[in-house]
Amino acid sequence: MTDTVQQVLILGLGLIGGSLAKALRQRNFCPRVVGYDRNVAELEAGVSLGVIDEAALDLPAAVTNSDIVVLAVPVKAMETVLAQITPHLKPGALITDVGSTKGNIIAAARPILAGQLHRFVPGHPIAGSEKSGVAAADGDLFRHHKVIVTPLVENSAADVQTISRMWQITGAEVLQMEIDRHDEVLAATSHLPHLLAFSLVDTLAREEDSTEIFRYAAGGFRDFTRIAASDPVMWRDIGQANRDAILKQIDRFSEGVSKLRTAVAQGDGETMTGIFTRAQSARQHFSRILSSTAYANTMTTNDVTFHVQPGGSANGTIRVPGDKSISHRSIMLGALADGITEVSGFLEGEDSLATLQAFRDMGVVIEGPYEGEVKIYGVGLNGLQQPPGPLYVGNSGTSMRLLSGLLAAQSFDTELTGDASLTKRPMARVADPLRLMGAVIETAENGRPPMKIKGGQPLKGIHYDMPMASAQVKSCLMLAGLYAEGETSVTEPAPTRDHSERMLRGFGYPVAQQGNLVTVESGHSLSAGKIDVPSDISSATFFMVAAAICPGSDITLQHVGINPTRIGVINILQLMGADLELLNEREVGGEPVADIRVRYAPLKGIHVPEDQVPLAIDEFPALFVAAACAQGQTVVSGAEELRVKESDRIQAMVDGLKILGVDIEGTADGAIINGCEAFGGGVVESHDDHRIAMAFTIASLRAREAITVNECANVATSFPVFVELAQQVGIKVTKEEK
Ligand code: NAP
Repeated sequence: MTDTVQQVLILGLGLIGGSLAKALRQRNFCPRVVGYDRNVAELEAGVSLGVIDEAALDLPAAVTNSDIVVLAVPVKAMETVLAQITPHLKPGALITDVGSTKGNIIAAARPILAGQLHRFVPGHPIAGSEKSGVAAADGDLFRHHKVIVTPLVENSAADVQTISRMWQITGAEVLQMEIDRHDEVLAATSHLPHLLAFSLVDTLAREEDSTEIFRYAAGGFRDFTRIAASDPVMWRDIGQANRDAILKQIDRFSEGVSKLRTAVAQGDGETMTGIFTRAQSARQHFSRILSSTAYANTMTTNDVTFHVQPGGSANGTIRVPGDKSISHRSIMLGALADGITEVSGFLEGEDSLATLQAFRDMGVVIEGPYEGEVKIYGVGLNGLQQPPGPLYVGNSGTSMRLLSGLLAAQSFDTELTGDASLTKRPMARVADPLRLMGAVIETAENGRPPMKIKGGQPLKGIHYDMPMASAQVKSCLMLAGLYAEGETSVTEPAPTRDHSERMLRGFGYPVAQQGNLVTVESGHSLSAGKIDVPSDISSATFFMVAAAICPGSDITLQHVGINPTRIGVINILQLMGADLELLNEREVGGEPVADIRVRYAPLKGIHVPEDQVPLAIDEFPALFVAAACAQGQTVVSGAEELRVKESDRIQAMVDGLKILGVDIEGTADGAIINGCEAFGGGVVESHDDHRIAMAFTIASLRAREAITVNECANVATSFPVFVELAQQVGIKVTKEEK
């Protein structure tokens, strides 16, 4: 086929054929768009409405002069028209179709086209309406819709490209799919819902008091049955053409309805809640169904930029969202507990939502989150079920590492996947010790995700001397230890977060602690309870540093978790001379909590004690900014872990602060930072790392010029309301979403 298409013939000038003709004419795809239809009135209307350039009355002649012939007749008529046109095809011409089913059309085309099958590139636009006929033709019908092309092995790449280009010109997004897969997917997403709508309306219409029923039919009925107004002939044809795939879907649906029927009959609220909450979250994440992954992998777009003006302030009283680590663990342990766990203050960030979704996918009924409240119907330690597909945990390293320990002990196979940034992070640190326990885990090259975990492997308790201080590795092994034969113990080289230990004990599970050695043994169970998640000290850090560096500031952060394994930032800021007070200290659910008040006071440079580094590991992006505002030099060492976080945080902070004019030098395990009076401005990159993005936002409080921070979408992973709270305290930040 030459690159230049002179004439397209649309055969069947109804809704779809007419809309394609109109779109191709409006967008000048080729010099001539000709229409043919057995219904001459439709053809005449096509010319008078400007849908086509010309009406073809002689089909063979029109075929001979066309470079592309588009079959837009009902699916059952495809075979007849193919037989009519094949003898008249111009050399090199292509055929495509718009049929809603593919397997039957291709089966019919094989004997007719025989040696010319390579000319047929099948397609199906996923756009339409319940109207039919050329009068309903709409040149924008395919804009922002998908068109599925199902190439045959006989097709050349160039011909597939020509047909794809024709659809792209109409504004559609073109996808490729195998023929059988197309018919299966469409049976589930289009054919079954249409058949159900027809059936429901028909069933109700045949009731004696149907007029009465329809009179009171509310919006739900109208929405659900809108598609029952579609063309009956077309749907009869589809019902016949895609029989097997539709039958499979009807059977699956019948099974689902009968489960629901049993739940309704027995007044089984938990099963109903399970079905409805899973359906609700699936409805909110449609794309995940289309991509067959367990969790939407389009949670964030990378097109968010923060613009920050100088001259802001940091004043007021705020409560930052719930602790991310505790939110993750509340879902995990709540799911594994016996009974119902009620969580309040849950962080509705994408990372903890990824954990929540993973457990829903493993059959756990979870209500919410509604304004931080979550209700988890625990299934017990052995009640998880195999998820329908890979568990997609987005950007969340915590989810992947902790879940791997739990999944290594389950009876079923699982796969953990994540976004591009998570896919670069090391997982060997959890996979290696889990393998020592008997787990069978496959990772990609260099121990990176995805992690494929084989089920049904008996685990044995081990003692593990952690080579690095990592709460995620420790927690992962403890979770595996709940299932392993005997005792599992972990020694940590330096103290790390102990939320898992505290929460396990809170759920009544014994955890032994001797100095830096933590031990669990299998054979116990978790009992459900209430969890009030304290505010996240890592999120609070940005506002502590904001007040500490901005003259005139006075900020109070309420209900912040001050777990001793997390207060490195408080200790370091106090060593630097910050005016920071803990008020109203108390204990909530095993975790210490306080209100934190910070007023501006000049900071001085220090050598950050290495024993504080693991206690403040997530806080360094903000602490680098504090150090850059301090008098004298600050040295950070023993923090090589920062190089394998969501980004290489040492490099990201060094690069960004240099752009702002700071005298800073990166080292293998930290940085040497010389403080200055004020920063300049400029464009800095956050490398998709939420904490880098937030650190440069607060840096604006000491900048003379505006700062633009790129790639800030991942702020939603840990601190979805950061911009709103920053504006509330007086930071002059705006968010630009593209
Ligand atoms: P439509 O509005 O009824 O148009 C079909 C046209 O083809 C009618 O004018 C019909 O004429 C004509 N036709 C039927 N048999 C013919 C023959 N043997 N020779 C010449 N013309 C013939 O239907 P549509 O909604 O556009 O559907 C067309 C195709 O698109 C179908 O294959 C359908 O599966 C597919 N599709 C439809 C939708 C949708 O939502 N509607 C979406 C995607 C794909 P008569 O009126 O005389 O029968």
